[in-house]
Amino acid sequence: MEATILIVEDEKNINEVLAFTFDKEGYKTLSAYDGITGVEMCKKNDPDLVLLDINLPGMDGMDACKEIRKSSNVPIIMLTAREDEVDKIVGLELGADDYITKPYSARELSARVKALLRRSDISSKAPAQDSNTITSGDVVINIDRYEVKKNGRILDITLREFELLKFLAVAPDQIFSREVLLENVWGYEYLGDVRTVDVTIRRLREKIEDDPSMPRYIMTKRSIGYYFNKI
Ligand code: CA
Repeated sequence: MEATILIVEDEKNINEVLAFTFDKEGYKTLSAYDGITGVEMCKKNDPDLVLLDINLPGMDGMDACKEIRKSSNVPIIMLTAREDEVDKIVGLELGADDYITKPYSARELSARVKALLRRSDISSKAPAQDSNTITSGDVVINIDRYEVKKNGRILDITLREFELLKFLAVAPDQIFSREVLLENVWGYEYLGDVRTVDVTIRRLREKIEDDPSMPRYIMTKRSIGYYFNKI
C-alpha cells in the first residue's frame, strides 16, 4: 500500500510541484494551503508523513506542528525559507522529525521522505527490537522514553509508577521487599510508609494487568515482597 503524504504549503505552485513529484514516485498526496486546514486534514486523513511549511497564513507551521503533535506521532518535515529558522525549530522542540531549507532539490527532499518513512515503518513494526526496551507478554517498557505500552497502546503512567515498574522489570523473578523498593524507588530520604509501595503496585496493576486481581506481570510473594514476571 502506498504511503500518503500531506503537503501543507500556501504557495500554490510549490504545493503543486511537490504533489506532482511525490505522485510520480508512487505516493498518494494530499494538499492543504493553510495551517488550520493542514491540522484538520492530518486528523481526518491520518497521513504517513507531513511536509509542513513554516510561513503559512493564519496558524503558522510551528503552531501547526505543535497542534499535530498533541494527537499524532506522524513524521513531520518542516520546510523553511531561512537557515536561521532552523535554530528556532530545533530550539522550540516542536517535535518535528526533520527540516529542509528552501531552495531544496526534489531529490534531496525525496531522499529524506524515504528515510523517514522507512524509520517510522521499522519502529511501528518492531518496537521490541530496541535494546532499551523490556518486553513481557503484551507489555513493552521503553526505558529511554519513560513509556509503557500495552498491546501497542501507550499507558498513562506517572513517573513513580514507571520507576517502580522499571526497577522490578530489569531484574525479573527477583523478589524485592517493600523496604528495598521504598529505598530504591522513592529514595533513602523518603520517610514514607511501606504501604505507599502497595498503593503504587495496585495502581500499576490496574494499568498493566488484564485482571488486577489475578496479576501476571507484577507478582506478590506473600510476606516477602514483589517481583516482575517475564512472560
Ligand atoms: Ca509559505
